[in-house]
Amino acid sequence: MSCIFCRIVNGEIPAEVIAREPDVVAFLDVQPLADGHVLVVPRAHAAAVEDLSPEAADALFRTVVRLAGPVREGLGAAGTTIGINNGEATGQTVPHVHVHIVPRWPDDGAGTVHTIFPRRTSRTLPDVGAAIRKAIG
Ligand SMILES: [Zn+2]
Repeated sequence: MSCIFCRIVNGEIPAEVIAREPDVVAFLDVQPLADGHVLVVPRAHAAAVEDLSPEAADALFRTVVRLAGPVREGLGAAGTTIGINNGEATGQTVPHVHVHIVPRWPDDGAGTVHTIFPRRTSRTLPDVGAAIRKAIG
């Protein structure tokens, strides 16, 4: 098994683990963007969000909800930015779903989720809405 997050989940690679739950493990990112940068991963390997089973998705987000407050409070932060890079084209470097919880402080120099996008759009909202609704089926 070569997936580094599966190996952490299985205890084959050491990590600074924050929580071990039946379906989810949370640990500190080894290349933290800030003190307290936590990764929350499903135990079952899934490359992308859309590959998660409903049960894995439920467990994953329940753990994110449970940890967001303690991550903020434990680091004395003012808030957290929570995000997922979903797919290689988005910058996801480990193809095992992981939710970033990054503590934030006023004037910490980081941007919002909105600042990662150049706001290039070309289609109307109704056109985009129709395209997504059609894909949902
Ligand atoms: Zn994996």
